[in-house]
Amino acid sequence: MILVRSGVVSGIEGFLIDVEVDVRPGLPGFEIVGLPSKTVRESRERVRSALRNTGFRFPAQKVIVNLAPAHIPKDGALFDLPIALGVLAHQGMVPECVFQDVIFAGELSLSGKIKRISGVLSLAKLAAQCGCQLVLPLENRSEAALIGGDHLLLSDSLGHLIRHLTGQAQAPPLPAHRLEVHSSQARVTIKGQAQAKRALEIAALGRHHIMLLGPPGVGKTLLATHAHGLLPPLSFEDILTINKIHEAAGLLHPHSAPLTERPLRAPHHSISQAGLIGSKTGRPGEITLAHLGVLLLDEFPEFNQGALQGLREPLDHKQVQISRAGHSLVYPSDFWLIATANPCPCGYLGSSVRLCTCTGRDINRYRRKLRGPLLDRFEMFVYLRSLSEQELREKPSPWPPLRSATKKDGPHSPALSAEADRLLHQAQERLALSVRGFASTRQIARTIARCAGASHITQAHMAEALQYRFQSQPNLLF
Ligand SMILES: [Zn+2]
Repeated sequence: MILVRSGVVSGIEGFLIDVEVDVRPGLPGFEIVGLPSKTVRESRERVRSALRNTGFRFPAQKVIVNLAPAHIPKDGALFDLPIALGVLAHQGMVPECVFQDVIFAGELSLSGKIKRISGVLSLAKLAAQCGCQLVLPLENRSEAALIGGDHLLLSDSLGHLIRHLTGQAQAPPLPAHRLEVHSSQARVTIKGQAQAKRALEIAALGRHHIMLLGPPGVGKTLLATHAHGLLPPLSFEDILTINKIHEAAGLLHPHSAPLTERPLRAPHHSISQAGLIGSKTGRPGEITLAHLGVLLLDEFPEFNQGALQGLREPLDHKQVQISRAGHSLVYPSDFWLIATANPCPCGYLGSSVRLCTCTGRDINRYRRKLRGPLLDRFEMFVYLRSLSEQELREKPSPWPPLRSATKKDGPHSPALSAEADRLLHQAQERLALSVRGFASTRQIARTIARCAGASHITQAHMAEALQYRFQSQPNLLF
């Protein structure tokens, strides 16, 4: 029996798989066991043809392939390559010793080309963890450029790989490690709304979940979609994680450059809970695709309440657990939540520009939706008004401010002054702040002080923090 190492990606993590190939005398046959999916079983046809078309023969004997451990579901065509190598080693075409501490993964075409596979970043992490070399399709070179390193070998065909493994051919050079982390900041010109812009800048710094309220056409969505430019550029480690997630979801396109920007995910309000949180088939949900970036819920009250309910766990723990075929997957979901909402179904409740045409019943029903399962997870609220005459005459400036211009060097955790503490306690009594509301107001005040580079949280910082809890359309939410 020949053992060839491979791996499989479940969720966004790679797992080691032993591909055991046995060739026995008997009636010719080819069987794959060990929880293979339909795609894996079809490997038999691809391997047979690839071997023949590369000039090798397929044994006229009984070939049995076992994928172990049996309990992990196996999907994808990446076992083609290790299976073919196992068969060839059996025939003495490759010495078995070259398989030691190497993970092989690749799909074979009928002609013997090694074709692109998905999940290579997760496999690369697996290989690094177990100290193995990794052999991948040459077509995965853009991801390979991201991984880099000597432990990587790329090959474009079975014939070439065999020649390389038997010392008759050189490996193609690895792509140069050229990852450009350009933080191109998309900016927009929006008139007025100084308070909302300021609120978003504070919310971005402290990663506070924020809701933008206001009538249609005041720029809520435009501001929300550009707010992710306020977040700092990604570290290399974070870039790997984000690419791993998008690759697992099948969202990385072949030949396209790896993602280097923080994600912005803005699912439509008709999204299902599985789409938002993640599905049992293992596809990451929007909350995972938004990891280290922004999850924008535009028209928040229109979202399915059941789907929103599922956000509680990931919001509290920054990760989500999904059970799939007997084992549970953990996906990261550390996102910044921004939501937008109209104050009433027609949008003009409290507006000075237009009359609200909603009935009392409409408004009550709408408020119940707004108050739904998640409202207490928002830490900041800001109400955007229709622009004044003066604001309309203003010359708009680009937003968000350039990252380089917003850097302040204050202490990370400024101390609470006695006056600020007193103000917070007064507010708690007068405005019946919840425990969660009390804690998050203090947290926001701390972020405001940081934003100013101050060493202490002053009364003014606290007063501004309280505004973001209560300044939203009066009496609408609280
Ligand atoms: Zn209305």
